[in-house]
Amino acid sequence: MTVNEPTGGSLPMHSQARSSSSSNIPKSEKKRRKWFGTSERRSGQGFMTRYGPSRSDPWPQRYIAVFVLCALIIWSFYVVVGRVCTPMIRNDSSVGFGRAIGIGTMITFIILWLVFVWSYMMILIVGPGLARDHCPKMPAPPSDFVSGQAPTESGPSAAETASAQMVDSHSTLVHGPALVDTEAPEPSQLVPISHLVSDFVRGSETEAPGSAALSREAKTRGPKDEIYVERPVPLPQTGPRWCRYCEINKPDRAHHCRHCGTCVMQFDHHCPWIGQCVGWRNHTYFIIFTLQASIFCSYLVIWLVIVLTKMPEIDGQVMGLLIAAAIFGLFAGMMYSSHVYLIIKGVSTVESYKSRDQREHEDHALQAEFGTLWKNHEKRKVRKRWKEEWGGVEVDARWKWGNSMEMWEQEMGTKWIGWFLPLGRPQGDGIHFKSNPRFGPNGEWLKKKDWPKELQ
Ligand SMILES: [Zn+2]
Ligand SMILES: [Zn+2]
Repeated sequence: MTVNEPTGGSLPMHSQARSSSSSNIPKSEKKRRKWFGTSERRSGQGFMTRYGPSRSDPWPQRYIAVFVLCALIIWSFYVVVGRVCTPMIRNDSSVGFGRAIGIGTMITFIILWLVFVWSYMMILIVGPGLARDHCPKMPAPPSDFVSGQAPTESGPSAAETASAQMVDSHSTLVHGPALVDTEAPEPSQLVPISHLVSDFVRGSETEAPGSAALSREAKTRGPKDEIYVERPVPLPQTGPRWCRYCEINKPDRAHHCRHCGTCVMQFDHHCPWIGQCVGWRNHTYFIIFTLQASIFCSYLVIWLVIVLTKMPEIDGQVMGLLIAAAIFGLFAGMMYSSHVYLIIKGVSTVESYKSRDQREHEDHALQAEFGTLWKNHEKRKVRKRWKEEWGGVEVDARWKWGNSMEMWEQEMGTKWIGWFLPLGRPQGDGIHFKSNPRFGPNGEWLKKKDWPKELQ
């Protein structure tokens, strides 16, 4: 089979036809299809295409932010040690502070600087863990693997199909269709933060095509003549996820990164500041790096504000460093807090999209039934019933098997020193993950009545 690059070059005929026709599909429709699945996905058309290894970004593009950050780190040493502390130690500083303050602040700065540089070196050196180092190459999954009947556009509603498939997924586990996931997610690094913000400001959203039809079909009259709206549920994974670039079956939680051109174990996000992905192996170091960056920048901001207020004449370099430290410190602090939140929830950045998508689909289903602005009481009732039916377990909680402390230790190691310095190790092997027993064997989001008896 011809090996082609994913972009440019000559794609095989059916793949070309597919990409040109799919370009006419609105973005929201593409998203809906990805969520609920389509007959095209199940019939397996287009699954056979191998693209060959994808190339990583060219190195100047990949490492430009790393060079910028390294330059800033070296410059910060020059400004604080050379321009602020040394004149104090020589007793010729215009700030008015003497030798003792100069030596004390310089030693504190150097210690924080060294720890920060050490943390940065570790995250630069330690890779995220590549799936290809652990998974053998596999041939493409067969194209005629469909088990059961493929739904048509006029067939059962997407939610019904998803539910039916969910119930039936145990029997289709072995021979079920393989998911070929080629679309590497490109998570914004601020996504977890934007989730927190959007929780407060959400309200008006546009309606996704298809959701109206979905909920209309799913609607029935429940007890006491209440309107029952079927909860939209994501399609379960019913087979191995084959990467057409790496030609491997991706382990759970692994995703293909287009910037690195490879599949990354427990993929979190691609970070331009380190020129590589954050994944299973280096997530711990990434957390430590953001923590140490926040501490280092906070110290710089406090110390430089004091120096600047005492200076008879503003030093441009000190002022520049103060602004850079404030921006980077804020960014690193937000990254640290959002990642701590994700860790104790047991989700990676990319997995956290799932609950955002779920909320959007639920909003659309409710808006289609009750209207955008009205009947908030009814909407709340339906949500309450959904919550009771699913036992309050969120759609992305597949990998949350313990309490917050256990999830933290799983990611950051059991020794507390490793929570502050780059010395810890994640537990496990990055391939096999303990699963939440409230989910099915393929990650099906189960209703409470389908949980193991002892958990109900
Ligand atoms: Zn891959
Ligand atoms: Zn990457």
